[in-house]
Amino acid sequence: MNNRVVILGGGESGTGAAILAKVKGYDVFVSDQSDIKEKYRVQLEKFSIRYEEGVHTKAEILAASLIIKSPGIPDKAEIIKKIRSQKIQIIDEIEFASRFATGKIIAITGTNGKTTTTLLTYHLLKSAGHNVALGGNVGESFALKVALENYDWYVLEVSSFQLDGTVSFKPTIGILTNITPDHLDRYDYKLENYIHSKFKLISNMNSSDNFIFYYDDPIVRKEIAGRIVYPKTTAVSLKNDSLDVFASNELMHFKLANEVLPQNETTLKGPHNLINTMQAVSAALLAGVEISSIKAALKTFVNAPHRLESVAIINGVEYVNDSKATNVDSVVYALGSFSQRLIWIAGGIDKGNEYGLVEDQVKEKVRVLICLGRDNQKLVKTFTGLVEEVVETESINEVIEIAFQLAKPGEVVLLSPACASFDLFKNYEDRGDQFRQAVLNLRNRDLEKIS
Ligand code: ADP
Repeated sequence: MNNRVVILGGGESGTGAAILAKVKGYDVFVSDQSDIKEKYRVQLEKFSIRYEEGVHTKAEILAASLIIKSPGIPDKAEIIKKIRSQKIQIIDEIEFASRFATGKIIAITGTNGKTTTTLLTYHLLKSAGHNVALGGNVGESFALKVALENYDWYVLEVSSFQLDGTVSFKPTIGILTNITPDHLDRYDYKLENYIHSKFKLISNMNSSDNFIFYYDDPIVRKEIAGRIVYPKTTAVSLKNDSLDVFASNELMHFKLANEVLPQNETTLKGPHNLINTMQAVSAALLAGVEISSIKAALKTFVNAPHRLESVAIINGVEYVNDSKATNVDSVVYALGSFSQRLIWIAGGIDKGNEYGLVEDQVKEKVRVLICLGRDNQKLVKTFTGLVEEVVETESINEVIEIAFQLAKPGEVVLLSPACASFDLFKNYEDRGDQFRQAVLNLRNRDLEKIS
């Protein structure tokens, strides 16, 4: 067998895998059917790695003894079928990296909450002085971290697509945040395939490892009941106070540390973040972090932007950017995070939303709905009559002007769109960035007026 590794896809994970393979002495070739970003070309060239872009040259690819594929390439792709027909092994970058990693892995997967839980877990370990790397789907790739330095711990966000390409990947601690139907187009529209993929997280874990999961999730609980689960389990719940980790009235109970932590002593809001925090804290405790260090670190955590990000308070009104909320489920959590009256900004591209899930909360908390999208018909039809006022706009600046005019002190202006952003924006980040900028412009204008 030759030692030729071919990497399909020259993005973050592909470039990381290529560098790791090169450092480990493989003969490496990267092939990307699209353009490779400048940033990654520079890295490949720095490590003298051969690559091609805009094409997959079969002769180059099929000469490999191992293929590492970007998680974005589906199994249905022509080149993948060809590789499989030649019986060449195809793995994911996290699988490849785990074969060389000397430290322990904390891996986080789930349909929602991955990034928050991953960043928080990393922050808890880092603040305690551990030699820890952050990687996977958030920040730099796992492979790049393994290639360039040695760490005692790797905290990794992993997607189901990445897990699909694992064989021996074995976290010491695995966290499964939740499972709701998602990405089913990649799973033959079968929920069980998606569930199976998520549970690959624990398939190599043994009784000295730990598996943390969200107990109230019916899909996760049913799956666990029907499986042999080898690692020790820690179930976290918002309802069941007989468990080791549960929350009631925004107090998080950790029987394993004999501690109760109030959510208002953390920087995260909302019921979903109780789950995320309980999971991250459980992981940190299992990794040996002292509770005193955890308590201090919970006060200094800064989440990734666009997730219930408090932007500014202007004239007693708080402006919150939750642009990442691209489905109704996320809006349920967002609305559940506030006791104040709300000016709710929603809209964009509807992916088959069922607004029934939020109607009660909207009736109770939302005073004004501002629709921000090309086609707002469904929102207007659903919520007219349930709130005092429904306004339609197509521009973020207009949204902020209207919100500024209508909001009363003590209220919250919340961008939590329930929809994708592509009708008016490049992506959810662009939408959130424009919202933040418009709010900051408004604040500066307001300050000028006062001074
Ligand atoms: P992911 O990386 O899985 O997309 P994030 O941490 O970026 O997750 O959160 C994305 C959105 O998902 C949040 O804005 C919130 O609306 C929702 N969310 C976060 N955590 C959870 C959770 N534990 N359960 C359900 N929804 C959640």
